[in-house]
Amino acid sequence: MPWSTSDRRSRLPKNWASLRRRVIRRDGGQCTALHSDGRRCELPGTDVDHIVPDSLGGSDDMSNLALCCAWHHRQKTGREGAAAAALTRVTSACPVEEHPALGD
Ligand SMILES: [Zn+2]
Repeated sequence: MPWSTSDRRSRLPKNWASLRRRVIRRDGGQCTALHSDGRRCELPGTDVDHIVPDSLGGSDDMSNLALCCAWHHRQKTGREGAAAAALTRVTSACPVEEHPALGD
């Protein structure tokens, strides 16, 4: 979901600007994502990402925040969206049966 149409901004903590600055400083201004060969991404970090998404109970704690480049952020967000969509499909594919105690 693009940032412009997301309600994510309104759900950010009041001290987000300060948290964001601290994450950028801690991570050295560089994307923390790793390439498949284990090398760290060399692009400048522009986005502060929740490692465990808040939709899955992830907190706004420094330990759950990481700096990443826009490209890696999009990749991760896309994977999370696909996983959420898959979960929805599985859930909605479950047959709805009437509870045996409710039958006549
Ligand atoms: Zn990156």
